[in-house]
Amino acid sequence: MTMRNLDSNDTIAAIGTPVGEAGIGIVRVSGQDALKISDKIFTSKDNKKPSSFKTYTTHYGWIVENSELRTLNSELNIIDEVILTVMRAPKSFTREDIVEINCHGGIVALRRVLELVLESGARLAEPGEFTKRAFLNGRIDLAQAEAVLDIIRAKSDSALKIGNEQLKGALSEELKKIGKILLGILSILEANIDFPEEDMGTADLERIRQKLQGLHSKLREILDTSRQGRVLREGIRVVICGKPNVGKSSLLNALLKQERSIVTPVAGTTRDTIEEIIDIKGVPIRIVDTAGIIEPKDLVEKKAVQRSKKYIEGADLAILLFDGSRKLSREDDSLIAKLKKKTVLTVVNKIDLKQKIERGKLSKKFTQLIDISAKKAKNINSLEEAIVGLVYGGKIKAAESILVSNQRHIQSIKRAEKLIAEALNLLDNKLSSEFIAQDIKEALGHIDEILGKKFSDGLLDKIFSEFCIGK
Ligand code: GDP
Repeated sequence: MTMRNLDSNDTIAAIGTPVGEAGIGIVRVSGQDALKISDKIFTSKDNKKPSSFKTYTTHYGWIVENSELRTLNSELNIIDEVILTVMRAPKSFTREDIVEINCHGGIVALRRVLELVLESGARLAEPGEFTKRAFLNGRIDLAQAEAVLDIIRAKSDSALKIGNEQLKGALSEELKKIGKILLGILSILEANIDFPEEDMGTADLERIRQKLQGLHSKLREILDTSRQGRVLREGIRVVICGKPNVGKSSLLNALLKQERSIVTPVAGTTRDTIEEIIDIKGVPIRIVDTAGIIEPKDLVEKKAVQRSKKYIEGADLAILLFDGSRKLSREDDSLIAKLKKKTVLTVVNKIDLKQKIERGKLSKKFTQLIDISAKKAKNINSLEEAIVGLVYGGKIKAAESILVSNQRHIQSIKRAEKLIAEALNLLDNKLSSEFIAQDIKEALGHIDEILGKKFSDGLLDKIFSEFCIGK
């Protein structure tokens, strides 16, 4: 356990909004000098100072180069017209005094305001430092801090929902319950270690076994959700494959419902791969239109083909597209062969045209054929349902259960689960309480790690360095 930064008294500041032209931009200041610093640079019509403002109130005024000079010199150098919000400790995001300065969104105005804040005694915040302080000051646990990042990065409604649940503490609550039970077991075991002459009664043994079994299935249950959690967070990788001109780009466009890739009637114009993230029924889909695995004619094509092969290998799902208005060809056959090992959705496109494709031959190979017209946007919905359905086996239950999506959490839960299984094994083999207690202690350690009851500088640095500055 580290105490670094716990007593850090400095006041931090950063621009909290994306840098670029925007309607507004926010400079965020947190720490014990946040109000004092604001007093130096903020002025308003009634000349009141931020240190006199009530918590959770907003005030209209100006950021000026030195507000203390205002009585001496009426020619103040106004940097920006702002709305200033005060949130006092401990009821703030970081549990410290926070001042947020709502500036005009221009890059120069924001930078100048930030510079003034820094000149007046704050230091530039590190990435994620505001959230880190919220964690170090005990407002949120580590899993909740990580949820903040998940929310910022959410690519779909479901991912956002998981993030919000985790930030609210759903996962943390469950883990705390598990930790409590482990501690309970530990105290029974330790009483037994202290008084070895009193053999552990069968009643105690049975109680421990039942508790461990309950915990074991609970952890398994949580782990079972993790695949779904990962998918919802990171997205399913889908590739669209098919010989030239079957309508791959048209399909991607139909899915995107906007024209992004070039649709042309010339074979092989989609020279490279384009990855897009779309939200289908709450699931983020990372979809790629490949150049197809055709025989490359030149170096550029060769490179494109190599890249698309890589994409296909890494994809969770391949959409194999056929042109219903043409007969199957050798190219189709070689694609079918190449995708043998993948999860494949077979789709017949151009059903608006006269059909020439040998359906009998296809349905012998594939149980499900989805008919669409990419150009006329026909039946795209069925395809979308099939995509989502295939990945989940038709079950989407993101909203109801706790979903663990964070790799760090999954690893810790896996370790705890293994240790509990081992403890059960030791119990069955009537090994000494000491060994069992050792496993339980370690399992508890892994649960505590997720919540951040135990952490190293390295872990914190790793987690918070992924944040943007200002969060
Ligand atoms: P890609 O080479 O596989 O990416 O194919 P494109 O998406 O570029 O489409 C090739 C041609 O087929 C274009 O002229 C499209 O307009 C046309 N096309 C694509 N989908 C359909 C469809 O559903 N019906 C009809 N009639 N034409 C389509």
